[in-house]
Amino acid sequence: MRTRFAPSPTGFLHVGGLRTALYSYLMAKKETDGVFLLRIEDTDQERSVPGAIENIIQSLAWAGIQADEGVMLRKGEAAQVGRKGPYIQSERLDLYKKYAAELLASGSAYHCFCTSERLEQMREEQMKDKRAPMYDRLCMSLPKEEVERRLQAGDPYVLRMKIPRNQLIEFQDEIRGKVSFQGSVVDDQVLLKSDGFPTYHLAHVVDDHLMDIDLVIRGEEWLSSLPKHLLLFQYLGWNPPRYAHVPLLLNKDRSKLSKRQGSVAVEEYIAKGYLPEALINFLAMLGWNPGTTQELFSLPELIDAFEIDRIQKSGAIFDIEKLDWIQGQWIRRLAPEEFAARIKPLVEAKYSDATSDKDFVEKAKLIQDRLLFFPEAPEMLSFLYEEPAVDKDMLASEKQKVTKEILPEILQSLVETLESVSDWSLDNIKAALEKSLVTSTYKKGQILWPLRVALTGKPFSPGAYEVAAVLGRGATLKRLRKVL
Ligand code: GLU
Repeated sequence: MRTRFAPSPTGFLHVGGLRTALYSYLMAKKETDGVFLLRIEDTDQERSVPGAIENIIQSLAWAGIQADEGVMLRKGEAAQVGRKGPYIQSERLDLYKKYAAELLASGSAYHCFCTSERLEQMREEQMKDKRAPMYDRLCMSLPKEEVERRLQAGDPYVLRMKIPRNQLIEFQDEIRGKVSFQGSVVDDQVLLKSDGFPTYHLAHVVDDHLMDIDLVIRGEEWLSSLPKHLLLFQYLGWNPPRYAHVPLLLNKDRSKLSKRQGSVAVEEYIAKGYLPEALINFLAMLGWNPGTTQELFSLPELIDAFEIDRIQKSGAIFDIEKLDWIQGQWIRRLAPEEFAARIKPLVEAKYSDATSDKDFVEKAKLIQDRLLFFPEAPEMLSFLYEEPAVDKDMLASEKQKVTKEILPEILQSLVETLESVSDWSLDNIKAALEKSLVTSTYKKGQILWPLRVALTGKPFSPGAYEVAAVLGRGATLKRLRKVL
């Protein structure tokens, strides 16, 4: 199984692109000798952006997707690896010219000398008559001599493919099932542009054939061009690959996912602190489901579970809340040591005491099931490294039925109970406080709320017992006495 991802280097990698790359990668990796290939489609030179190739490869690498063949990074620079290269289309121009000449010779393509002004005017008239804009084939019937003369004269031209107007073109798409197109509504596509560069249509057909691609997974926006591609394969005497057109990514209002409604660049998700595992897991489920209730999948698990026939036809809503939920799940799944190691540099940057902190893993554990992004850690752990400023009003709580009148008594009893704990541990703290409740008129929330706020200064934080245990006996009692 040979699959490929074929981005155009017109900018950063889009989340939709990452999903397409992921699906192609998964399909290749299901087979032991499967190959996932990365090809760069830079035939639109005007839109190519310097550095985009590196950005695309780096974003894929971050997500854990490495190409087996094609363009990859070597020492930070794009390199090409494999026997079917070059893998950058601008380095393959002679090949496209060769096949364009073949199409011309067999009568499947023709020269078109129409100027952009003429084409624009034609389009306007067609629109005015409520007809679909389509090349009117003025140049298709130019006499041979005239074509020769104009070529000699150096008139600019493009090469167009001839579409059989009365043919029905049918195909079995891996996701959409049977699709059919009337030749009469398919435009005579430009194959070679006047600058000698091929269009996507010619270039990718030639490349997918010469690179032995078995399965093309690409965005649904290409489905309407499929008849052109199938005809090109036919004209050139080649078998087409299998095609799977994946559904669009949508905003919540079902419009096409766009920058205006949120981030679309993979690098923005990286910068926000999403884990690659989370983004990959989320993207895999956008338009695909495993047919079970399992929601969390690692990359190897995805390779096992992924099947093209479980990709849906309809657009998939890009739901950030779902992504955040998955992110939280992946944070919880990290081994505590790994989690601690990931947040430590961030905490150290704010609190130098963290550097030599032997209990750092224990402290990190306090927040592992509460945090969504690593940069939240210093703030969430701040009370362990500096004495919090405790807001008196926050010590009381209407919800927990802690009034200001009863606060001093509660705090006093907390000090007394905790002073009696000599062997300071989570279990002993918990046991002592629960025991004190048996003979007291207060409820659990009435003692735990002020305790937690006195120790952390925060309305939200890890639980009171856990905080007291990690903080230690001395600091716990000191803070309680201070608020008292
Ligand atoms: N270069 C095309 C794009 O970026 C690739 C489409 C395809 O996968 O064939 O949309």
